[in-house]
Amino acid sequence: MTSPRQRLLEWLRDAHAMEEQAESMLASQAQRIKNYPELKQKIEEHLEETRRQARLVQECIDRLGSSTSIVKDATARMIAFGQGLSGMFVGDEVIKGSLASYTFEHMEIASYRILIAAAEEAGDQETKRICQQILSEEERMATWLETHLAETTKTYLRREQLESTSATR
Ligand code: MG
Ligand code: FE
Repeated sequence: MTSPRQRLLEWLRDAHAMEEQAESMLASQAQRIKNYPELKQKIEEHLEETRRQARLVQECIDRLGSSTSIVKDATARMIAFGQGLSGMFVGDEVIKGSLASYTFEHMEIASYRILIAAAEEAGDQETKRICQQILSEEERMATWLETHLAETTKTYLRREQLESTSATR
């Protein structure tokens, strides 16, 4: 039998692996983007948020009384997912990167909604509060990406017609 509390803990570990994967994807994008300053800055901001989110999730795990040393499974799955999304080194890198970011933020949104419900069920008010806070940050990032996807795409296509190297990233 699995209690809501045990399941909550397991899902928090998954979320921690997810944030670590988010950190690595965002760090690599922030470092690689050269010609899309607004996008680069937003990614850098969300990278900082993401690092803090990973710490907050870890604190929830610690409070529930466990360590992340047994997260190998979740981490491996998350790395595979992230790599599947990554469009690094392809010609339309900035577009594939935007697609990956938008997709990843929505997976995070779903994860925190699930965690909020699970925390409610387990009677863990602090985890619920933290997950709600993180959820708003993920929603803000998803909305930003949503409102900039068309612009990035058009800029990319125009640059590609003139000079393909500056369009890429
Ligand atoms: Mg996150
Ligand atoms: Fe995020």
